[in-house]
Amino acid sequence: MNAIEVTGLRKSYGPVDAVRGIDLSISTGEIFALLGPNGAGKTTTVEILEGFRTQDSGEVQVLGFDPRTRGHVAREWRNRIGIVLQTTSDSGDLTVIETIEHFSGYYSNPRNVDEVINAVGLDEKAGSLIRKLSGGQRRRFDVALGIIGNPKLLFLDEPTTGFDPEARRSFWALIQELRGNGTTIVLTTHYLDEAEALADRVGVMSDGQILEISTPSEFGGRSTSKARVSWRDGTVLKSQTTDNPTAFVNNLGADFNGEIPELTITRPSLEDVYLRMIGEIDE
Ligand code: ATP
Repeated sequence: MNAIEVTGLRKSYGPVDAVRGIDLSISTGEIFALLGPNGAGKTTTVEILEGFRTQDSGEVQVLGFDPRTRGHVAREWRNRIGIVLQTTSDSGDLTVIETIEHFSGYYSNPRNVDEVINAVGLDEKAGSLIRKLSGGQRRRFDVALGIIGNPKLLFLDEPTTGFDPEARRSFWALIQELRGNGTTIVLTTHYLDEAEALADRVGVMSDGQILEISTPSEFGGRSTSKARVSWRDGTVLKSQTTDNPTAFVNNLGADFNGEIPELTITRPSLEDVYLRMIGEIDE
């Protein structure tokens, strides 16, 4: 069974068609990144999956349930889902550990509180008041609340906004560890390197539609696109695009009779391909 199945999803706000008929399947255990410019319809889509908004039409199944289901069944369903929203309301004058302990009481099979605090790198701040955390620490705290319930499915909406580079790397390690335990993760992010590092597949939305779904390495024909070889020849930096970088570098190596100065070989990054795709839509 797929963790998420969406067919023909539509949602309008008055005259604004925010989601215009999307189909999407996300496998159990997969990390799926939903990408797209501001206003593309990502939050609307994800909040329908979370049961916070209701679609105008289309079918949605999340862990086998329609998120519009209410009552006892919905409570059990919610118990298996973790959510980290873009912004969270303030927890007043409680400390990190008090709040996480409090939230753990809402779930039937919570994770260990100290372990979760350690996993998000907040050991030193466990006794601090929430309102005294820095922006990045606050975001890590939000992630802790998202995973305390030991979810089967975790939604992360722009989780690393405000993280310093080191915190972002340790967050990535945490997400990979969760995936290793079989958690399905749906991530929205504006950081293409984050999507590349974490996602099994990425889907790009624009103007309420999905433009492409693929693995990060194959996205937009990346894996078969030309490589750029760059090197230094005396005082001049040279570069050449080629379909056969190996042969090209071999020849270059022969010309230099050994080491090629400042050699690099690159293919378009996920960000390059994404920007080209979004740019073409805008034109
Ligand atoms: P971002 O990257 O900025 O978070 P997004 O891809 O998540 O953007 P949505 O928040 O889903 O985009 O918005 C899609 C469209 O629907 C936008 O045009 C937005 O203005 C509109 N919209 C979203 N929520 C509402 C609402 N509650 N009422 C009216 N219009 C809305």
